[in-house]
Amino acid sequence: MSHRILIVEDEISISELIAINLTHAGYEVQQAFQTEEANLKMRESLPDMMILDWMLPGKSGVHYAKELRANERTAGIPILMLTAKSEEADKVQGLDAGADDYMTKPFSTKELVARVNALLRRHSRAPTNDDLMVLGALRLDPVTHRVTAEWPGSPRREIIVGPTEFRLLQFMMGAPERVHSRAQLLDQVWGNEVFIEERTVDVHIRRLRVALAVAKCDVYIETVRGVGYRSTRQPSAVSSDSDHL
Ligand code: CA
Repeated sequence: MSHRILIVEDEISISELIAINLTHAGYEVQQAFQTEEANLKMRESLPDMMILDWMLPGKSGVHYAKELRANERTAGIPILMLTAKSEEADKVQGLDAGADDYMTKPFSTKELVARVNALLRRHSRAPTNDDLMVLGALRLDPVTHRVTAEWPGSPRREIIVGPTEFRLLQFMMGAPERVHSRAQLLDQVWGNEVFIEERTVDVHIRRLRVALAVAKCDVYIETVRGVGYRSTRQPSAVSSDSDHL
């Protein structure tokens, strides 16, 4: 069964170029020229991933990515963001909004297909273990892909995390107290992904912490200065003030 990719891009020529190349690569393609149309296309069933343009009429791609991430139904869709902006700050903003990867226009269609392949491979990899994982008040279920949290006096609640953050948390919860360098996390969570820089790990750690902070669980992810990150059962009382090494 081929993966279905939804392209959200208002420039018809670019959308067509992407659609032709992805169809050639064996993917099923859907096109939407603005976000409302994308929502309509996702009403019946969700795509396996989305290619989202930053500059769209009406709602921007960045704004839309945030909305998708905040919605339980669409939070797990991998997003590759396209933009004409090439500044590092823009890239971080795009990733912060919820994108899993990022490409600057003009791009090579060959590289685009390679990145789509890599992103889908990363997110369709079967979990190595289906056991429920527990870390303090946090619980991660690899089967239902849900993260929940509970603390005294409160009912258990679901924490919405993006697909990359889920994999990151799953990996870190699998080896509590162990410190992982950014290179190790890239290797384990992103796999053979040649395009991703180490800086990206920091962005996803920050996103993970923001998601966990809703349930006061961000303290379970600690920065080990100069070394990397770890998950811990005994968080220090103060929430980490920085995610930089
Ligand atoms: Ca555009």
